[in-house]
Amino acid sequence: MKGAVLYGPRDVRFEERSTPKIIEPTDAIIRLSATCVCGSDLWPYRGINPITQPTPMGHEYCGIVEEVGNAVTRIKPGQFVIGSFFTSDNTCPHCQAGYQSSCQHKEFVGTAQAPILRVPLADGTLVATPDVPSDGMIPSLLALSDVMGTGWFAAVAANVKPGNTVVVVGDGAVGLLGVLSAKQMGAERIIAMSSHASRQKLAREFGATDIVVERGDEAVARIKEQTKGVGADAVLECVGTQESMMQAIGSARPGGSVGYVGVPHGVELDGEKLFYSHVHLHGGPAPVRRFLPELIDLVWNGKINPGKVFDLTLPLDQVAEGYRAMDERRAIKALLRP
Ligand SMILES: [Zn+2]
Ligand SMILES: [Zn+2]
Repeated sequence: MKGAVLYGPRDVRFEERSTPKIIEPTDAIIRLSATCVCGSDLWPYRGINPITQPTPMGHEYCGIVEEVGNAVTRIKPGQFVIGSFFTSDNTCPHCQAGYQSSCQHKEFVGTAQAPILRVPLADGTLVATPDVPSDGMIPSLLALSDVMGTGWFAAVAANVKPGNTVVVVGDGAVGLLGVLSAKQMGAERIIAMSSHASRQKLAREFGATDIVVERGDEAVARIKEQTKGVGADAVLECVGTQESMMQAIGSARPGGSVGYVGVPHGVELDGEKLFYSHVHLHGGPAPVRRFLPELIDLVWNGKINPGKVFDLTLPLDQVAEGYRAMDERRAIKALLRP
């Protein structure tokens, strides 16, 4: 089979790779219906995370189970399944506590920009949909594999409650789906930070009531101005830079919460500033597996349509163009069809 391999900065190739096979009895092999490029794939693509050897790419996936190992009991061939970018046994103490992305037996699923994928710990990692979905539903189901689950976790970690004022820092796919999540959880005001017209439009479609275009200290001043000097009850940080993190903490009211899901790159917090801010911080790699049953239900019943973040669809062999379009911010998120 052929899949995506990153060789170095801005050098993604579509080339021959060995076809995955069952290795452990707890594995499943999936034929992917769709996969995609993630905002976090852009860190190594841009050379910010160095690449030392050719690296297969991709960690968001959904598709039909082809084969399972002989210890797999819950997942069956023919089912349409979605899984997270971290595998989980779903039985260890961390999984039981709802933190499957810290599973004691987790493995990163990193070869999904391909037609066929091996998923370890299939019973604990994968969740099947009620039936094989229609083609039109596949983008929204694919979004659950990472970006929707991550936006949802940002809102959960920020403790969004009905009636809240919520700020979302970041207008990538995760930030936009953070808006959708806050709306679904009953937020009354949702202030999206974005200076990009097409992203502002989608943010409004997903439930944003206000847009702030400023950045850094100016953005914090605008939030204070728009909340009578108080700040937001909940802030979703969906970028991972020093500026975005400080913007998030500065936008929260005393006693407010920041849910941070942007992978931090060079973020350093000042203990004294944090102390006097009275802000709750909670975040990390989203335990997507915890939310999959609920989110599949919401998509299946037409309550949410997170697949709208895919504004570019390409055949898998044009994966390099998907990276380019996202790198140049011509596309929010690129869906790839094997
Ligand atoms: Zn991702
Ligand atoms: Zn576990």
